[in-house]
Order: sequence, then structure tokens, then C-alpha cells
Amino acid sequence: MAVKLSEKDEIKVNEIVDILKNKNSFLITSHINIDGDGIGSEIALFIGLKKLRKNVEIINQDKLPKMFKFLPYSDKIKIFNEKIKEKNFDVGIIIDCGNIERVGELKDFILNLPFLINIDHHLTNSNFGHINWSNPIFSSTGEMIYFICKKLGQINKKQAICLYTSILYDTYCFTHHLSNFTFDIVKNLLTKGINPEKIAQRIFFEKSIKSVNLFKEALKTFKFYKKLSLCTMEISNKLLKKTRTQEEHTEGFVDFLISIKGVEVGILFKERANGVKVSMRSKGKVDVENIAKKFGGGGHREAAGCFFENKSLKEVEKIILKELQ
Ligand code: 5GP
Ligand code: MN
Repeated sequence: MAVKLSEKDEIKVNEIVDILKNKNSFLITSHINIDGDGIGSEIALFIGLKKLRKNVEIINQDKLPKMFKFLPYSDKIKIFNEKIKEKNFDVGIIIDCGNIERVGELKDFILNLPFLINIDHHLTNSNFGHINWSNPIFSSTGEMIYFICKKLGQINKKQAICLYTSILYDTYCFTHHLSNFTFDIVKNLLTKGINPEKIAQRIFFEKSIKSVNLFKEALKTFKFYKKLSLCTMEISNKLLKKTRTQEEHTEGFVDFLISIKGVEVGILFKERANGVKVSMRSKGKVDVENIAKKFGGGGHREAAGCFFENKSLKEVEKIILKELQ
């Protein structure tokens, strides 16, 4: 099989695997508003450690979006709370986070653990943790976890389902940010008896009527800025209330914007209780990570995001548009 890591990456994998084999208890976490890459990576690694009979827990700040409940062991994932603060872990493993702030409320707890491993594929990573394996060449952290899991033992079907989900999600159905490894890894995962059609269906083709109703309303806010090859849409709290939806029902909206011919950048502005979340997508000509970074966010050239605390939709739209001009 052609899947071969660079020497530098191989060293990192070996360092991580050493710790995983030699320590006993592990906390696995990922970023706030957990997504398909984070969740698939977390569970695949969780299974790998369980196979070694280690004590391991997955704990995130936010609850699992319903669309990922089909994943094995997804019912084992915990939400961070006061009681968890009394627990001890030898090692904290932080996946898919460009900086430690991305873990949200877990930050102080996790920083107090004796050993931290940071596994990430964002362009900008603040190099936190005792072991930092960060490399933007990977399509997803799922690809990175694949290499770790392989060294922990044979990858089983359940792990393959999770890793396939990570890769499929972060490449948006193999349409962007593919790596040189993607298809070789996927080919290997397919030998484990997973059903790729079913996984794609679960993630991308089971939109709820609620989500469609929200989309219908959101389209009324659709704007096309021809000179900038830009499309935007906004989701206000009022709209979420009216359609009885939450932010998770906006999944795929920004990807719709970038699917339009002639559009280079798609932006979704999402109002939250305490500010506005900006989700950006690019076909590659414009580096949206560069824009997100200017406002304390991050991501990749083709997909990035940032958050503006205590600002209105109008204010944030003005700021971002100015940046794009
Ligand atoms: P999304 O728009 O789907 O929330 O995120 C797109 C990409 O940008 C993902 O890789 C995500 O991790 C990253 N991202 C989104 N919001 C933020 C943010 O506030 N801070 C950082 N550092 N990255 C973000
Ligand atoms: Mn990712």
C-alpha cells in the first residue's frame, strides 16, 4: 500500500503511540461545536485505546449533533460538567484544535493534566501540548488518527466507520482539501466491510424538514456581490426561533453557497446569544483562513471561521465585507 508518512510525521506518530501504550488513563476531546472530523477521530482513537484495555473517556464541551448518533459508541461521549473536574487522567488528547481555546470550557481542566497531546491539521496551530503533531497536509484529523490506530493494532470495522466519517466530512464528500493519502486510506478502510453509501447518506443526505424550512427562510437573506464573486446568507436568532431550529440545522448551508457557479467565496453569518459566528468557504483563489485569523479565528484556505463577541449581524457583515474588498 502506497500510504507512507514522511520521516517527520512518522517520528510524531511513534512518540504518540509510545505514550498511548505506556500511560493508563486518557481524556480525549475536540473543539467546541464538535464536527464530523472531530467526532470520528475521537471515537476511532477511543476504540484503539479500549482494545489496549486502557481507561479512556471522550469529553466535549458541546453535545453531539443528532446526525452523528449513528456512529458506534457515540452514546459513550460525555459533556463536560463540574463532576468531571474531580477525575484524574494521565494524558489529555486534543484533536482538531488550532489552539487550546478551541476546547472551550475544558481548557483549565485539560491544561492541568500531567501530559497533553495535540493532534491537528489546521494551517495555524499554536504548538501547545507536550507532543504536538500538527500538519496541514492532512485532509482531516481522521487521516492522522488512522496512522496512530494502525500502530495500536488492526483497524476494525467500527474504527473504519469513524475514520471514513471524518474524512468524508472534512473533504465535504471528497470535494476539497484532499491529501495525497486520502484515497489510499479510504481504500484500506473499505476493506473493513463498511458501507460508504450509507455513511454518506447519514451525513449529507438526510436533511430534516426543519432544516429545509430554515434554509427556505435563510435564502431570503441571500446576497450576491458580483464584483467580489461572493455570496452571503444570514441566520438570525429570530429566524431560529421562528423555525424552531438550532445552529446544527444550518449544516451544509455555507457549502451550498460555494456550490454556485461563478462564486469564489461563500459566507454564512450565524447569530448566537453572545455574538456572531462567521463560517467561510472558498474555491481556493481567496484564502479565507487569512481573513478568519485576523479576527482571532482559523481553519484552512478553503474553509475557515471566526467569532465576534457582542456584535450584531449587521456590524459583523460590514467588517467582513470591508476585509474582502
Ligand atoms: P466551520 O465554518 O465549519 O465552523 O469551520 C470551518 C473550519 O474553520 C474548521 O476547520 C474549523 O475548525 C475552523 N474554525 C471555525 N471557527 C473557528 C474559530 O472560531 N476559531 C478557529 N481557530 N477555527 C475555527
Ligand atoms: Mn478537521
